[in-house]
Amino acid sequence: MPLFEYKCEKCGKVFEKLIFSTDKEPIRCPVCNSESVSKILSSFSSNLSCPSSGSGFK
Ligand SMILES: [Zn+2]
Repeated sequence: MPLFEYKCEKCGKVFEKLIFSTDKEPIRCPVCNSESVSKILSSFSSNLSCPSSGSGFK
């Protein structure tokens, strides 16, 4: 499922929201209901702790 992180520009709340391809409603902050939210790039790269690159480790 496409799950994205958003940050409210008004109150600073960070929240996750499922985005569907047919989604046409604006993203709103669940706290203050503001539409001024910015999308946060997913941090999938930080989870990729691939051990194959650590040739000199240990
Ligand atoms: Zn907010």
